[in-house]
Amino acid sequence: MNRPYNFSAGPAVIPEEVLQQAAAEMLNWHGSGMGVMEMSHRGKEFISIYEQAESDLRELLAVPPEYKILFMQGGGLAENAIVPLNLSRAATVDFVVTGSWSQKSRKEAQKYAAEVHTAASGEASHFTTLPDPAGWQLSRGASYVHICSNETIHGVEFHELPDLKNLGSDAPLVIDFSSHVTSRPVDWSRVGLAFGGAQKNIGPAGLTIVIVRDDLLGHALSTCPSAFDYRIVADNHSMYNTPPTWGIYMAGLTFQWLKRQREGNACGVAAMELRSIAKARLLYDFIDQSGFYVNKVAANCRSRMNIPFFLQDESRNDAFLAGAKARGLLQLKGHKSVGGMRASLYNAMPLAGVQALVDYMQEFERQHA
Ligand SMILES: *Cc1c(COP(=O)(O)O)cnc(C)c1O
Repeated sequence: MNRPYNFSAGPAVIPEEVLQQAAAEMLNWHGSGMGVMEMSHRGKEFISIYEQAESDLRELLAVPPEYKILFMQGGGLAENAIVPLNLSRAATVDFVVTGSWSQKSRKEAQKYAAEVHTAASGEASHFTTLPDPAGWQLSRGASYVHICSNETIHGVEFHELPDLKNLGSDAPLVIDFSSHVTSRPVDWSRVGLAFGGAQKNIGPAGLTIVIVRDDLLGHALSTCPSAFDYRIVADNHSMYNTPPTWGIYMAGLTFQWLKRQREGNACGVAAMELRSIAKARLLYDFIDQSGFYVNKVAANCRSRMNIPFFLQDESRNDAFLAGAKARGLLQLKGHKSVGGMRASLYNAMPLAGVQALVDYMQEFERQHA
């Protein structure tokens, strides 16, 4: 029997092949007589899992050698503190606020940075537009500039990362890529540090991925917990303390799955990008031609991953969700702060799932328009 289509924003759908493999290996990983959760993180079995996951992620995202990949814990929210603890140098940091997540990040940074400066904000448009980088008011000498490259709640995505050098800033760019990591390539020439929780597009909650340029290590405030000091984590190959071993294993299975994916001549993340474009276009095109549903985000910054939409007549929300669930279309309810609906189209969501959603939306519209 086919599983339902799961549109959750996170924790979210995981490729079925990955779940099957994890199930098959649950009691006895590769003849070791142990499940992965039961292994010492310092044993040769787990070290091989860790090393493979690290090198596969490096290959998939084309991470240059001068960047470290760290496997941490605490999720995106903890990184909102850990980044300023490591990078702020107790000086000014710049934020570009484009939705709930960058707003939250800015608030947390105020605890650690000497000054938090808002260089630009999409608040006036209720986060339906991205402020044009040409108009950003970047501070001179900021320790870093923070953006959320995909706003999971408001459905706003940077389709091109800003080139800070061109905008007159020498600061490293920090990106929160939690909810679109591995759905598109990353231009590392523009990024100093990227972080993301795994539970959106990589695997189970509990693993946080941090990719950081070497020159940004070693500047932590003296109050930074040792387990969150990027220099210490990097020097210990993410094993200063016990890493989230199960999350790393599951992420590793997902990376292997990603490497197997093909779309025409493209493979891996490039294939995911082509699929993401096709999936998002299918849903946006349907919404835009309909007078029954609406998405309010400007066309140039619509997220391919998280698509919030509203029924024009919100009194039908409950009926819409109930009908969707009955057809095996799960977790479409929008975030409580914005309401309406949200369809998250992560890598593990096939085009057929989006087609099934569009078919249902069309049918619901016919019945209720
Ligand atoms: C989900 C999410 C977070 C928060 O992650 P937690 O693991 O819950 O801390 C942060 N940023 C973005 C963009 C997210 O989508």
